[in-house]
Amino acid sequence: MDPVLDVRDLSVEFRTARGRIKALRNVSFSVQPGRIVGIVGESGSGKSTVLWSILDLLAGNAIVTGGQISFEGRDMLTRTTQQMLALRGEDVSVVFQDPMTSQIPVLTYARQMRDILYRRSGLGKAQKRKMATEMLDKVGIPDPDMRVDQYPHNFSGGMRQRTGIAMAMLTGPKLLLADEPTTALDVTMEAQIIHLLREMQRETEATVVVVSHNLGLIAELCDEVVVMYAGEVVEAGNVHDIFHHARHPYTRALLECDPARIEEKSHRLPVIPGDIPDLVQPPQGCIFASRCQRVMPRCLTQPPPLVEDGQGGYARCHLLAGPGHDSSWPPPPEV
Ligand code: ATP
Ligand code: SF4
Ligand code: MG
Repeated sequence: MDPVLDVRDLSVEFRTARGRIKALRNVSFSVQPGRIVGIVGESGSGKSTVLWSILDLLAGNAIVTGGQISFEGRDMLTRTTQQMLALRGEDVSVVFQDPMTSQIPVLTYARQMRDILYRRSGLGKAQKRKMATEMLDKVGIPDPDMRVDQYPHNFSGGMRQRTGIAMAMLTGPKLLLADEPTTALDVTMEAQIIHLLREMQRETEATVVVVSHNLGLIAELCDEVVVMYAGEVVEAGNVHDIFHHARHPYTRALLECDPARIEEKSHRLPVIPGDIPDLVQPPQGCIFASRCQRVMPRCLTQPPPLVEDGQGGYARCHLLAGPGHDSSWPPPPEV
C-alpha cells in the first residue's frame, strides 16, 4: 500500500546570528493510511520542525535544504501558497499544544468553526452551525447548542482541547497532525484526550501523526514510533517492538527516563548525562555519541549505518552492524 505521508531525507536549517542551526538532518519516515505514528524525543530534537515542515508553516528564518515530503503521492514542498492553504483547509488539519494560543479569544466557537468551513460555499450559516454543534457533541462537549456560542475562556482546559480536536476534525481531514496535544492538561484530562483521539481516528480512519514527550501517550495511542534525537531519526518502528525491544541506546535511555516506567521499577529518575550537541556544528560521527554509555572510537568519527528490521523499522547505531557490531546488543527484553 502507498503511504499517505512520506518524508524523505528532510533537512531544515534555521538562520541565526550564531550561524545556521541544522535542526533536521535527513529525516525519513512514512505513514500508511489509517495509522497513528508518534514522534518522540527530548526538547529541541526537531519534532515540531517536522510537523511545521509538512504544513509549510516554518518560521521565516527556516530553509529546507534537502529532501521531499509527499502527501498522497504529491510533492508538498513545491506547492504554491494557495495550494497549501487549500490543503490545510480541507485534507490536512492540526491540533495544537495550547488551545489558548491557537484559538481566537474574541470569537465564539460558532464563528471560528464557521470560518474553518469557509471553503464549503454551498453550505449556509445554519448548516455550518449544525456541523459545528454535531462535532462538539461528538467530542463530548455537553449542551453543544448553547456552548457553541461561547468563547474559549468560557471553557475549561480539557474542554478547550476537545474543541481543538473538534475544529481539526470538522473538514474530515485525511491527515491529522497533533503537536503535544495533552501537555497543557492534567493526567485525567490527558487520558480522556488520548481516548478521544483514538475514537475519532477509528471513526474517521484518518491518518495521524502525533508529537509527544510522553511515552505513555505514544504507547497507548500509536501504532508506530519515530524516535528523534538532535535533529535525526535514530530509531523508528512498530510501537510494540520499540517499547519492548528498542535497539538504539538513546531509545533505551529514553524508556528508562519515562516516569510511567520508573514508577513500575525503582521510582528513581535516571538522567542521561551530558547535553544535546550544538546543532550549528553537529558532530561528524554519531549524533548521540557525547551521551552514549556504549560509545566506541568509531562512533566519534563515522556516522552509524542505518540498520533495517525488515518490517519497515530501522535504527542507526554501530552496535547493530559493521565493525562495531555487538552480537549481545540489544539486551534481551526484561521479564
Ligand atoms: P520541544 O519538545 O521543546 O517542543 P522540539 O523537538 O519540537 O522541541 P523544535 O522546536 O523542532 O524541537 O526545534 C529543533 C531545533 O531548532 C532546536 O534547536 C530549536 O532551538 C531550533 N529552532 C526551532 N525554531 C527555530 C527558529 N525559528 N529559529 C532558530 N532556531 C529554531
Ligand atoms: Fe552509541 Fe555509538 Fe550507537 Fe551512537 S553509534 S548510539 S555512540 S554505540
Ligand atoms: Mg516542539
